[in-house]
Amino acid sequence: MIEIRQFPARDDNYAVLIHDTASGATASIDAPEEDAILDALEETGWRLTDIFVTHHHYDHVEAVAALKERFGVRVVASAHDAERGRVPLVDRGVVDGEHVFLGATRIDVIAVPGHTLGHVAYHIPSAHALFAGDTLFALGCGRLFEGTAGEMWASLKKLRALPSETLVYCGHEYTQGNARFALTVEPGNAALAARARAVEAARDEGLPTVPSKLVEEIVTNPFLRADVTSVKAALGMLDASDEAVFAEIRERKNRF
Ligand SMILES: [Zn+2]
Repeated sequence: MIEIRQFPARDDNYAVLIHDTASGATASIDAPEEDAILDALEETGWRLTDIFVTHHHYDHVEAVAALKERFGVRVVASAHDAERGRVPLVDRGVVDGEHVFLGATRIDVIAVPGHTLGHVAYHIPSAHALFAGDTLFALGCGRLFEGTAGEMWASLKKLRALPSETLVYCGHEYTQGNARFALTVEPGNAALAARARAVEAARDEGLPTVPSKLVEEIVTNPFLRADVTSVKAALGMLDASDEAVFAEIRERKNRF
């Protein structure tokens, strides 16, 4: 069995520990902040054995070196980022479709270029959990720092195809702003309006909005809905390609 502990780090990052109860192995998804991760390890009594890095941005890898020195952990990251030295101290470079194990728990690697070219997501089928980094956010998606809109759209479609009950863990608490933007794309989406109200209420109480269920994202997240006819119609893009509609939504968000 897998236990998952999510906690805030830095300003608006989320850090996550995943713990394989049978073996005791414990992985950190990314390493945003050493102190926050050490506190969570102390509270849980878990010993860190692995770091699974989603992408090379500073706020996801800053504590890799310190945690490796302290615990001698195995560092897993995309082969793309490892080969270019963009993630430090990588022991295992992984590519799309590969599996890594935490104890006996299988974790599937999904390459999701777009936010960065070497970005990977980690999916644990047995726990119905996806660690999407800065690719898929609750009601949003990552900015296109390195990849194209076409690459990001293809990456998001891969994640969308996972089982709908999958819990989506992402790298940041951006949901409130994302909800306000999503309503400008689909003001007539009743499920989105209801979710936006729930998000506002949760944030007013200081509660996290992450993780979310993939099925919720499929019906409310505009970045997963670029191929939905009503979305194309709302944007006046009925004849445009799915990719062009996705690019337009991303552009609008950049200006929002
Ligand atoms: Zn990032």
